[in-house]
Amino acid sequence: MERLKIAIQKSGRLSDKSIELFEKAGISASNNSSRLLFASASDFPIDILYLRDDDIPQCVADGVADAGIVGENVIWETGQKVVTAEKLGFGKCRLSLAIPRDAQYSGLDWFNSKKIATTYPNILKKVLQDNNLTADIHVINGSVEICPVIGLADAIFDIVSTGSTLLSNGLVEKEKMVYSEAVLIKNDKLNEGKEQILEKLLFRIHAIKAAKSNKYILLNAPKDKLEDIIKLLPGMKSPSVLPLADSNWVSVHSVVEESKFWDIIDQLRAAGAQGILVVPIEKMIL
Ligand code: ATP
Ligand code: ZN
Repeated sequence: MERLKIAIQKSGRLSDKSIELFEKAGISASNNSSRLLFASASDFPIDILYLRDDDIPQCVADGVADAGIVGENVIWETGQKVVTAEKLGFGKCRLSLAIPRDAQYSGLDWFNSKKIATTYPNILKKVLQDNNLTADIHVINGSVEICPVIGLADAIFDIVSTGSTLLSNGLVEKEKMVYSEAVLIKNDKLNEGKEQILEKLLFRIHAIKAAKSNKYILLNAPKDKLEDIIKLLPGMKSPSVLPLADSNWVSVHSVVEESKFWDIIDQLRAAGAQGILVVPIEKMIL
């Protein structure tokens, strides 16, 4: 029977989230021995390869692995030809241009003829081209953010998630250039059997993602306000309405998007809803 080989980061920022995603999908992927580079899920036709994130795009492009979980930034930097099957919503970060705090900043033109240190020379090259800038790219593998302090560069182009590392090195983020998150990638020539396994996995991932961005909501509504309250609840289809012991009241159940949640709650209260309960959803099949 066919099995799908998926590469994930061995140890790093994406490892736990990748394993957690598989676990939520009912696939045990945890690497019990830290020396192990390979594991077989017993409950799903998937084998997991644990690699350095930088090696994942090439492994998938070459077919050493059929699929992988990696940051978009790594795919863009390596320039490997892979297909993005799904954005995963974790490992979010941005690549920004940062300069010394005391520099007089005049806008993107400031970077013209400057020396910029980065571990992402290919992405930076593209960013400079797209903005008609000419700067000198200084490739460095380690702590990029110390380069300006020690005089190795005038500015840096690096991953930023909060900006505090920058600040402690006397730098300020000036331009947010590229946004990245973890994605599930696949080889562009998977056979039918492997595509089917991937489809099954994607079905489960969609259910997990939908559940995460939605909440189950239960509330009590006075019968005479029911129509107004139902209008406020978009739901998957139409909300469930259940009788209560007090015949003037009903219980209404529905699903709301997390992003619209506070807005809707305020409106529901204003419309007369009481005893509002909001509970997380484990899985959601649309
Ligand atoms: P490896 O040992 O596998 O090469 P690494 O040190 O290159 O690991 P990590 O620091 O673990 O990589 O980051 C993995 C990915 O997590 C990054 O490529 C990026 O997509 C994402 N990420 C999210 N937030 C951050 C952040 N604040 N700093 C660095 N990477 C981040
Ligand atoms: Zn890496």
